[in-house]
Amino acid sequence: MKPYADYTRSERCAEYTALQEQYEAWKTKQLSLNMARGKPSRAQLDMVSGILTVLQSPEDCFDGALDVRNYGELTGIPSAKRLFAELLGVMPSQILVGGSASLNLMYDLIAKAWTHGLLHSPRPWSQEPVVRFLCPAPGYDRHFRVSQSFGMELIPISMTPDGPDMDAVEAAVRDPAVKGIWCVPKYSNPQGIVYSDAVVDRLAALRPAAPDFALMWDNAYCLHEVYGEFVPFRDMLTLCREAGNADMVYEFASTSKITFPGAGVAVMAASEANLKYLSGLLGAQTISYDKVNQLRHVRFLQDKAHVLELMQRHAAILRPKFEAVLAALRGIAPLNIASWTEPKGGYFVSCDAMPGTAKRTLALCAEAGVTMTPAGATYPGGNDPADSNIRIAPSFPPVEELEQAMQIFCLALRMAALEKLGI
Ligand code: PMP
Repeated sequence: MKPYADYTRSERCAEYTALQEQYEAWKTKQLSLNMARGKPSRAQLDMVSGILTVLQSPEDCFDGALDVRNYGELTGIPSAKRLFAELLGVMPSQILVGGSASLNLMYDLIAKAWTHGLLHSPRPWSQEPVVRFLCPAPGYDRHFRVSQSFGMELIPISMTPDGPDMDAVEAAVRDPAVKGIWCVPKYSNPQGIVYSDAVVDRLAALRPAAPDFALMWDNAYCLHEVYGEFVPFRDMLTLCREAGNADMVYEFASTSKITFPGAGVAVMAASEANLKYLSGLLGAQTISYDKVNQLRHVRFLQDKAHVLELMQRHAAILRPKFEAVLAALRGIAPLNIASWTEPKGGYFVSCDAMPGTAKRTLALCAEAGVTMTPAGATYPGGNDPADSNIRIAPSFPPVEELEQAMQIFCLALRMAALEKLGI
């Protein structure tokens, strides 16, 4: 194997014909394989299904003197605040335990900024002539969608191996219309990047022109190692406070990839002043979240040591899947048509195909029965200017299916690259 760029035209044609034959053979199998979304597999869900039976009797439903079956405790039950405070390394007084999805808490925060404004907003965001939001890209498509759904202008910020390009971020926040940034500081979606200390320090010390700039600190994968022991992360609330930005940061996390996605528990951590302001608004919206589920999680997850042990068991299921993806990609490395990340945790592998070939690669995959996250999804507005980035989600399919899907994916990458080079 040598780089495709070094092939002569006739070599490329011969190679393409051979690949096409393999591709047609795959198509006749009429497979239906999916590497689109970062969902835990059946084995992972079964492993945590003990949570279904931790509360059995009326007596089980008390958190101290608090009957979790009834209304009340808008910001969450005390034991859940203590558990999530321990997991995130913050104070229980800085925790709001919400419903079953952190994305919902994020959306809600932006919606409140829009209708009422945040703690330091001069006016609701809806009354601003324009609202801009910084979107480190490649990034999480659903973050971008939240901003987009409110009509914000999305500003792409390039990602470096250390996190967002901080020179660009610092320059952008001088614009008072820039109201916030989306960040996934540990095992970012999709690249699995862990922000360096220097990037984290610079983010904490930002001096945005907007007094109500929101640092959306989505720590979705903070406990989600795939390889190796738990890697500690820094408490952004403290770092921001020390830098004079106590009310700038809103941290989010959930148990979606610890227990059940869609039926887990979500949290927001923020300064006491922010929580006081926001719970005032929240009180008009709900009386309390699902506290039975909160208590179920406390009983099942117990404490940080127990959660980390559980995460190691998730990792044992996930590792062979990451291996299958990486082995397939490493197999085509000499062709020099793609680069990819090899993350130590999170739920994704990010692949950069030869520029101008991502859409074509995924169209070929789809035709052969392999569904992937659409090309461009990792960029604001779904527009990857290089048409290169592809997110691979290995968690859900069984290893054998993943191996097949990756064979087809690699074939598609190769065919698209040859087409681009000219056949
Ligand atoms: N944030 C990130 C970065 C994610 O990748 C995901 C899930 N794909 C979520 C949030 C969604 O979390 P939840 O289920 O808590 O809404």
